[in-house]
Amino acid sequence: MNMRIAKVTSDGTETKLRILAKEKEHVRRKLVVTAEKLKLKAKQLAVTAKQKEHVRRKLVVTAEKLKLKAKQLAVTAKQKEVVRRKLVVTADELRISRATLEKKVLERTKDLEQVKAKNEAILASIGDGLVATDTDGRILLVNKAFERSLGWKREEVIGKRLSEVIPMTDAIGNTLSASERLKIKTPNGSTAATMYYRRKDGTSFPVTITVAPITAGNRLIGTVEVFRDSTKEKEIDRAKSEFMSIASHQLRTPLTAIRWALSSLKREKLTDEQQRLVVTAHETSTNMAVTIRRMLMISHLEEDDAEPELAEVDLHDLVEKVTRLHDAHCRRNGLTLIVQCPHTLLVRTDEQLLVEILDNLISNAYKYTPRGGTVRLRVGKKEGMIRISVADTGCGIPLAEQKRIPEKFFRASNVASPAEAGTGIGLYMVYNIARVIGGTISFVSKENTGSTFTLLFPS
Ligand code: ADP
Repeated sequence: MNMRIAKVTSDGTETKLRILAKEKEHVRRKLVVTAEKLKLKAKQLAVTAKQKEHVRRKLVVTAEKLKLKAKQLAVTAKQKEVVRRKLVVTADELRISRATLEKKVLERTKDLEQVKAKNEAILASIGDGLVATDTDGRILLVNKAFERSLGWKREEVIGKRLSEVIPMTDAIGNTLSASERLKIKTPNGSTAATMYYRRKDGTSFPVTITVAPITAGNRLIGTVEVFRDSTKEKEIDRAKSEFMSIASHQLRTPLTAIRWALSSLKREKLTDEQQRLVVTAHETSTNMAVTIRRMLMISHLEEDDAEPELAEVDLHDLVEKVTRLHDAHCRRNGLTLIVQCPHTLLVRTDEQLLVEILDNLISNAYKYTPRGGTVRLRVGKKEGMIRISVADTGCGIPLAEQKRIPEKFFRASNVASPAEAGTGIGLYMVYNIARVIGGTISFVSKENTGSTFTLLFPS
């Protein structure tokens, strides 16, 4: 029994133990599961902690950046304030400048108005006619004298072409084209022929014109022309010419008698002193005869209607004839003459006028070349023009005085006192004669070296 009891007891205990073990096992497994879960949780927590740390670090960086940004914004705000203040100052300065400028503009406008009024008063009071034109030749401005002398009112001519409103004519009434007018308006010394302006009523008057360019910077924007009614001057010139012509004629006859008497006296038996006096008197009277002839020629040329008498002329013969006239002078002064001229060179021109030109140029070359010098005369033909040059190795003409050479009675300062007498009308006559035969005179000269005068005329 006890054994059975003991067996039963041990069976019960065993069962109980088995159950317990089972429960324990169950609990252990649960614990294992829980431990696993906890481990997982712990792992998850560890991951979350890492992420949090990462986020925290990012937040720290962002915070730093924000701090920097805030600092930068503070600096920008400061700069903006500085700029704003500067702008306020600048605005004030601008306001002051504008006020000053306005004042200055007002003052300047007043000045300009005064200058304009003054200029207008000056223009109105100029006795000579004045007209300003643009580069097209259209009238921009005229003065009172223009209106008075031409009969046109200002408003009738502004904007119109000057050459159409005011025709220019020559001495015989031919109207000049615009291009011919331009040439006339830049006259070459005092040798230009007289031109006439036609008034609104059709009548004409002789004019003396001076033209000057109007420029803005380097650009030509028009021209201003000043003209004068030269009727009175022409009348005086004509009276002078007439007087010269009459006086010359009156002098010529007695002078011929004096020269004749002197040349007869030269052939008489005289003492040396008497011979010297007679020779000097004869030379002087010969020079006087030349001057009188020139004066007559000039008064004829100045009458405006001198016409050349054209004929066939052999230049070789003519040159020989003229140079022979001066042979004695050439020998007396120990000069050498070299002539270069083609053998037969025929031209149609006025022989007498051409002789006058050459006679003058050669006698000047001899007169102004010291002993031992050379005079070279060259004749040639080029492109339908005849070119005759007379070159010497003489005293030359001072540079500063060269532009005055075509003037009547002008003598250069380096020859004004020396022994060789002169009147200063020879070249004036030469320039005028050249114009009549359709030619031109030019020269180059160097003081103490020599001069070359050149005549160019159509063949
Ligand atoms: P003139 O010889 O009677 O003085 P011209 O009219 O012939 O008058 O010449 C005018 C001036 O020109 C002269 O006085 C002289 O000063 C100058 N001249 C002319 N020809 C020459 C020349 N060949 N060499 C130097 N000067 C000259």
